[in-house]
Amino acid sequence: MNILTFGPNGSGKGTQGAIIKQKYGIDHIESGAIFREHIKGGTELGKKAKAYIDRGDLVPDEITIPMVLETLAKSKDKGWLLDGFPRSVAQAEALDKALKEAGMKLDYVVEIVLDREIAKERIMGRRLCANDNNHPNHIAFEAIKPVEKDGKLVCRVCGGELSARADDQDVDAIDKRHKIYYDTETGTTAAINYFKKLPGGAPVISVDGSLAIKEVSELIMKQLP
Ligand SMILES: [Zn+2]
Repeated sequence: MNILTFGPNGSGKGTQGAIIKQKYGIDHIESGAIFREHIKGGTELGKKAKAYIDRGDLVPDEITIPMVLETLAKSKDKGWLLDGFPRSVAQAEALDKALKEAGMKLDYVVEIVLDREIAKERIMGRRLCANDNNHPNHIAFEAIKPVEKDGKLVCRVCGGELSARADDQDVDAIDKRHKIYYDTETGTTAAINYFKKLPGGAPVISVDGSLAIKEVSELIMKQLP
């Protein structure tokens, strides 16, 4: 089974991807990992991509698309779940064409829908425990809210000190990523709409990302075979 996942930063897309991957035994392919793999492997495409990245430029689609395709082709037998690509309608069109040419079928598109302000709040409310990275703490979620101790918020699991990741508090960076995601003209939302309207295209499963992780995953699983 081949699946494409969409969801803004802060929607829990990575967590849901991991759950789907585990259930179906397919490869979870994240767009950043594709770049890292090609650059580390010293492939021709990786070398070209690195030159752009080193200059701080976006890697053009002529390099990104074949790279994604090569990585997906390696998981052809197992099936894959692609995460973080395409980000634009141009990339969506190119991916659709390339998949058809490569004889790979897209079976489902999973979209996690979340309001932009809520997504931002979710990113900014994450807290890290000094004792254990896996202790979930979030100031916006009742179920995993940190506890107060001596007038300070501490880890709800172990009472450890809490901190926020610097890039989770970088409002400009969050806005920049969300601007691309929520762009209905050429951005990621336009890419999702492209798949929704694609004649004979894969079914698009849209779920409400404001629900709890477990509820979101149940809604997704109910609609997957
Ligand atoms: Zn802790």
